[in-house]
Amino acid sequence: MNNERPKILIVDDDRRYLESLELLLSAHYEVITDSDSLNTLGIAMSQHPYLILLDLNMENIDGYQVIRELKQNLETADIPVIVVTGSHETEDETHCLRSGAVDYITKPYNPEIVKARVHAHVELKRQKELLKTLSYQDGLTGIANRRYFDDTLIREHRRCRRAGLPLSTLMIDIDFFKRYNDIYGHLTGDDCLKLVARTMLAQLNRSGDLLARYGGEEFVCAKQIAEKLRSAVLDQQIPHEAGIDGLITISIGAVACLPTEGIDTRKLLMLADSCLYRAKVSGRNRVEAAACSQASSDQAVGNV
Ligand code: GH3
Ligand code: MG
Ligand code: MG
Repeated sequence: MNNERPKILIVDDDRRYLESLELLLSAHYEVITDSDSLNTLGIAMSQHPYLILLDLNMENIDGYQVIRELKQNLETADIPVIVVTGSHETEDETHCLRSGAVDYITKPYNPEIVKARVHAHVELKRQKELLKTLSYQDGLTGIANRRYFDDTLIREHRRCRRAGLPLSTLMIDIDFFKRYNDIYGHLTGDDCLKLVARTMLAQLNRSGDLLARYGGEEFVCAKQIAEKLRSAVLDQQIPHEAGIDGLITISIGAVACLPTEGIDTRKLLMLADSCLYRAKVSGRNRVEAAACSQASSDQAVGNV
C-alpha cells in the first residue's frame, strides 16, 4: 500500500460529476467509479478503497443507506466516507456526520477544496493504518507481537471450534540464551533473535500459520511443524560456545487439540508451556508434543 497510489471510490449517479471528480483526483489516486450505486458495499468489499466519495441523492438508492451499510460491515466500517452532495441543508450535513461520514462537501464544489480534503483524509487513514500495523508488530524482529497472537488465537480457536478442525499451538524457546547474551553481548543477542525469527518464518507458508514473539526470546506458532522449525534453526549453525554442541538451538512445546468449550486458549497455552518445560528438562533441542482432549485437559495429558 505504501508505494502504490491510494485507491479512491467515487459513487455518483450523475456522470458529469463522476467524470470531473475522476479527472480532478486521478493524478494522485487510483480512481474507481460507481454510477449505479446498487452494489457500493460489494465494490468496497472487493476493492478495499482508501476513501469513498459518496453522492447523497441518487436515483437508485438513498446515500444514507449506503453509509449505514458500509459502517455496519466489519470489512468496510473503517473506510472514511466523504459525502459530496447538492444539499446545503444543515440537517443533512449533521445527519451524515452522525451516520459515520467523515466530511461533507457541497456541490458545486471548489476543486482545490475537494483535493485538500481528500488529501487530509487519506493522510489520516494512512496514519491510522500505520499505527494499527505497529501496534501488532514486534519492534525487534518485525514479526507479530503477543497482542496480535492473543487476538488471533482467540479468533482461530472460535473458527476451528465451529468447523470441527484441530488447532495446534507451539511454544518455542531458545536454549541457553542468557549465556549467549553473557558471552556475545546483548546486541549480538538481538541479531540472533532476529535471525531465529526469520529462519522460522521462512518455514511457514500456509495462510493459517502465524509466528509471533511471545515474550523475551519465546515465540509462539500455531501449526504442527515443530520439527521443521527446530531443524531449520539448527541448520543455521549459529555458533554458541555454551550451547548444545556449540550451536544455537530451540526447544518446543507443542499441543494439538480439537477446540471445545472445555479447552480455552489459556489452557492451550498452559499446556504448550508445560510441554516446553518437559523439552527443557529432558535435554533441550527437542520437541515435546501432547494432544489434549476435554476429558484429560486438566492434566498435562499424554504424548502423541
Ligand atoms: P533455557 O535453555 O532454559 O531457556 O535457558 P535460557 O538462558 O534461554 O533461559 P530463559 O529462556 O529463561 O532466558 C531468556 C533470556 O533471553 C533472558 C534475557 O536476557 C534474554 N532476552 C529476552 N529478550 C531479549 C531481547 O530482546 N534481546 C536479547 N539480546 N536478549 C533477550
Ligand atoms: Mg531460553
Ligand atoms: Mg525464555
